[in-house]
Amino acid sequence: MAEVVALVGCKGPAQEAEYLQILSAAMPGERLVPFRRMTDAERAGAQVAIVANPDPAEVAALPGLVWVQSLWAGVEKLVGVFDRPLPIIRLVDREMARTMAEAVLAWTYYLQRDMPAYASQQRERLWQPHPYRKPTDTTVGLLGLGALGSAAAERLTDAGFFVRAWSRTPKTLTGIDTGHGADGLLAMLGHCDILVCIVPLTPETRGLVNAARLAALKPGAALINFARGPIVVTEDLIAALDSGHLSHAVLDVFDVEPLPAQSPLWAHPAVTVLPHISGPTDMDSAAATVAANLREYRTTGQPPQGVDAGRGY
Ligand code: NAP
Repeated sequence: MAEVVALVGCKGPAQEAEYLQILSAAMPGERLVPFRRMTDAERAGAQVAIVANPDPAEVAALPGLVWVQSLWAGVEKLVGVFDRPLPIIRLVDREMARTMAEAVLAWTYYLQRDMPAYASQQRERLWQPHPYRKPTDTTVGLLGLGALGSAAAERLTDAGFFVRAWSRTPKTLTGIDTGHGADGLLAMLGHCDILVCIVPLTPETRGLVNAARLAALKPGAALINFARGPIVVTEDLIAALDSGHLSHAVLDVFDVEPLPAQSPLWAHPAVTVLPHISGPTDMDSAAATVAANLREYRTTGQPPQGVDAGRGY
């Protein structure tokens, strides 16, 4: 029997059918089978699993796996959860980078053009213009300068914003002030009008945006979190907003998702809540990316470059 590719961790039959159809169309030479429909022989022989939010026990039931392809860019829930070391390939996809860069620009404009204030004034029937601030007078700080952060940096500089960016290792990008490490972060924060979080969630970045780092931001600065909830300490964020040191927070990601109804963030006047929509996976584009990875593997026998389990991304 020809080897099959396992599809693991879809959210219900409708999502499974949709993913199966789009992925299968992109890889005509492969037979993709959802985990629950695989025979014992197929489970024993599968070398590759394409995963959404997999149950680790299902991945453990595929003993011949050589690598795991995630359909998401963030893979913190997969690192270290399988019963053996398996290369985990996260989704690095041009369409996702474009969508995320567009979201960063859109919500940066939302803050730069004072939309939260005008929305609140409209509820009060208050006619009150605020002074215009040019993009060139607005510094946007990016935490993370990877596949998504660098696309956002390009989009922001094209729109005239002044961009500073921070990464784990040193980086050079034309027209952008870059920094790295703990000292680089503190040096950057004091210049930022808007801070955008787009780093992966790892042991090092959990709680990264805490009271001390929020205090280091320029008074009146705003925060956008498009990465993962636990990177920002929610209580510290609320305290910084309540004190007025921070003017607004746009949050797309939370410690618990969906955001529980009792969370104080829902009704906070200085918080915009988004339901994890900043960088959705585009399945057509993701399928083409995954198909290219599989073709390369069939040709070379080498799995694609996986995430580094030690650093967590
Ligand atoms: P990536 O290509 O791996 O880039 C990660 C960036 O973060 C790199 O610049 C890296 O530094 C930096 N970084 C990692 N750990 C750091 C640390 N301890 N200190 C300083 N910088 C650190 O990841 P990506 O594709 O850009 O994705 C970033 C994250 O976005 C994902 O992990 C995911 O959580 C999130 N995401 C959210 C959504 C959404 O809809 N909300 C959608 C997609 C992705 P180096 O360059 O030095 O390695």
